[in-house]
Amino acid sequence: MSAVKKVLVVGGGIGGQSVAIALAKKGVEVEIAERLDAFNVYGVGIIQQSNALRALDRIGLADKTMEEGYPYGQLKMFTAGGHFLGLAGAPPVEKYPSHNGISRRTLHEIMYEEAIKIGVIYKMGTTVTKIDNNENDVTVTFTDNTQGTYDILIASDGINSDMRALIFGEFKPRYMGVSVWRYAFKKHEDLDTAYMYYGKRSKIGFIPMCDETMYMFLVSAEGADNPWIEKSAYIPMLKDYLAEFPVKIAQDAREQITDPNLVNYRPIEASHLPDPWFKNRAIVIGDGAHATVPQLGSGAALALEDGVVLAEELEKASTVDEAFRAFMKRRYDRCMAIVNASETLAKWELMEFEGKPLPEGANLGKVIGQAVGTLMAPF
Ligand SMILES: Cc1cc2nc3c(=O)[nH]c(=O)nc-3n(C[C@H](O)[C@H](O)[C@H](O)COP(=O)(O)OP(=O)(O)OC[C@H]3O[C@@H](n4cnc5c(N)ncnc54)[C@H](O)[C@@H]3O)c2cc1C
Repeated sequence: MSAVKKVLVVGGGIGGQSVAIALAKKGVEVEIAERLDAFNVYGVGIIQQSNALRALDRIGLADKTMEEGYPYGQLKMFTAGGHFLGLAGAPPVEKYPSHNGISRRTLHEIMYEEAIKIGVIYKMGTTVTKIDNNENDVTVTFTDNTQGTYDILIASDGINSDMRALIFGEFKPRYMGVSVWRYAFKKHEDLDTAYMYYGKRSKIGFIPMCDETMYMFLVSAEGADNPWIEKSAYIPMLKDYLAEFPVKIAQDAREQITDPNLVNYRPIEASHLPDPWFKNRAIVIGDGAHATVPQLGSGAALALEDGVVLAEELEKASTVDEAFRAFMKRRYDRCMAIVNASETLAKWELMEFEGKPLPEGANLGKVIGQAVGTLMAPF
């Protein structure tokens, strides 16, 4: 690798582990500083479209994620009452199926094991408090007051990235008016692919995670002021939403939702950094650079792609600046197309939940079709 020999990645999530594995496979010395003392990834799932699998293949992990996940075809869409509306979702790409459902915990473990195997060093319970970022290298101060000097720092510490604040100054994500509730179950015997049902106040989806398990997501609008919801309200609220869906899979799920500690409730935020996402020797990737509303289920796929592309460009270029510029050229428009399409879909969804008419000319099929076209294009 010509441009870098020693790299610090801050944040050991999907984007951080992707870039760490991709760089370590090219012979770079990689350390990951992770704020958590120990990973505790929640056990609901994630949708991987074919482009996510294609990116995982470039770091040698696509087959393993499909073995431990649940590869499936297109998504089946229904009315709340179960009338079949049609098929949607990504087409297969190269040798990969339209989708793979997988537990986030399993995906994390697959990436973690690979990273450890190829020599990535994890500094757990550690973050960076100060960055001296100049044209030749970057020196950081860690929380234990030790210092380290690296060729580059890659910030992959998520939507509320502290590293982004240290590099570029304060930057706040925006609340988008919608929330997502998730819960994991034993897989329903009828679930052969992903199912989605459209209600008046919410929409729900069931995604297989492996032969034995599935998860449900429910998208709702809890109010413009992003109200705090007490844990004690989770179960009654979810059951109330699910009453709108008389279909068996939803009613079976409704009965099985009993433990508020297993409900994952997330008000949805979005943000993006303007071009460029780098300054001197520090660069932001993943949600810290381009957090999308999950309406297109693609944020993690983009974070995986970021990792692969950054490693490729660092290998090709003779200087860091050249590599970072080439990375931006390949990533900015692609990521922004998905950020913008997801936000449009979320805004329209919110209007539907609020009973408001959609803007004149709103064309759901066109927005989704163009976004899927972008995702499936080579990256
Ligand atoms: C409800 C919901 C559903 C979603 N569903 C999908 C889906 O189906 N498919 C899909 O592709 N995407 C989905 N996404 C998006 C996806 O989860 C994110 O895009 C993805 O996790 C981003 O990866 P990341 O590595 O950038 O950040 P993260 O996954 O957030 O990882 C950040 C890591 O950095 C660590 N960290 C944070 N701060 C610091 C710090 N200061 N110092 C050190 N470490 C730090 C964190 O502990 C964490 O380990 C969904 C998102 C939401 C909210």
